Amino acid sequence: MNTTKSEKLYEQALDFMPGGVNSPVRAWKSVGKSPVFIDHAEGDKIYDVDRNEYIDYVCSWGPNILGHTHPEVINAVIDTCKKGLTFGACHSGEIELARAIKRNFPSMEMLRFVNSGTEAVMSAVRAARGYTKRDFIVKFEGCYHGHSDGLLVRAGSGLLTNSIPDSSGVPKGYTETTLLAKYNSVESVEKLFDKYGKDIACVIVEPCAANMGVVPPKSGFLQFLRDITEKYGALLIFDEVITGFRLSIGGAQKYYGVCPDITTLGKIVGGGMPLAAYGGKREIMECISPLGSVYQAGTLSGNPVAVSAGLATLKILEENQDTIYPELEKKSARIESAMRKAGLNVNRAGSIMTAFFTDKSVTDYETAKSSDTKKYADYFNYLQSNGIYTAPSQFEAMFVSVAHTDEDIEKTCNIIEEYKK
Ligand SMILES: *Cc1c(COP(=O)(O)O)cnc(C)c1O
Repeated sequence: MNTTKSEKLYEQALDFMPGGVNSPVRAWKSVGKSPVFIDHAEGDKIYDVDRNEYIDYVCSWGPNILGHTHPEVINAVIDTCKKGLTFGACHSGEIELARAIKRNFPSMEMLRFVNSGTEAVMSAVRAARGYTKRDFIVKFEGCYHGHSDGLLVRAGSGLLTNSIPDSSGVPKGYTETTLLAKYNSVESVEKLFDKYGKDIACVIVEPCAANMGVVPPKSGFLQFLRDITEKYGALLIFDEVITGFRLSIGGAQKYYGVCPDITTLGKIVGGGMPLAAYGGKREIMECISPLGSVYQAGTLSGNPVAVSAGLATLKILEENQDTIYPELEKKSARIESAMRKAGLNVNRAGSIMTAFFTDKSVTDYETAKSSDTKKYADYFNYLQSNGIYTAPSQFEAMFVSVAHTDEDIEKTCNIIEEYKK
């Protein structure tokens, strides 16, 4: 495979942007290669600048559930652009999109649009703290909630300590109120509530973790979080930036049947444009300015072009939900079975999955980290050289889209089945 043009572009990019990229995972550092530069995409394929063609299972890290360049989405964007890119004022699309979201996420009685998942989570946590008048939050090791200061944490030493910053530039004070629990561990959460219960504003969780590779919740775990937060008067936040409109039209909360107080959405909800949202119970959201005292704002929030892409995407998903989600499930199950045939250890929930290179059953961050990332890199390189584009990191998901044709799924499965560990 010839990637000369990409290599030349990467050399230039290195001069302008840290690591040559605008988001770290794009640098392909963990698979020991220089990244390919994308020229264009269509349907289930992406094409790099050297004219290599790949079946795309990154799907822009989730947003492209309809695949690339869906005509209805593209046309909606073009039509909206002609009327102006941004007004910094109210427009009716905001109401339409809010209505479409609420129809499928009834727990989001009111919501706010923002520009990224990071911003949605940051604002949701502020709302939870403002509403409960408490400072502490509980998050889980291995769950990613964007790059805001208070959420970039890792475990300190000692069993029941507060977390410490997981990035330089984050002052200790910002993470002292972030408590770290183990995903799928009831006991770790109970311990934190025993000690800090009346000071905990919220528990934030990826209802199906997808940022340490895919790690589904154990049966009863989400309901346990629902019960313990209620018992202590804390709020439950589901970060559905990946799972929203992905696991089902109503996200993970519908898929698993557990209802949070606040939900964050991103990725799919913007249909490929920068748009995210947070929302929840009316009385919580009424704490947000200008109604309440929790400040949150945004120059480009609810941007009409982004809203139109989101609306077009949700419209297609909603109208075709009875075929789309069962088909995604079927295609994804087919790929999972190919992985198992190749002897891979795979976790899957609906149309997201990850192959791990460990004998352990992966149920939390510790077991996810036991995966041999060198073996993952080898697997990634094998797939890429065979025209299959997957995440250049062990700790990400493989995304299946509506646009993946049966033919391309079969091709993918044949290649996976021939993989020699
Ligand atoms: C991607 C992601 C985020 C961050 O969203 P950005 O738009 O990249 O800021 C937050 N939470 C989860 C669960 C995510 O997958």
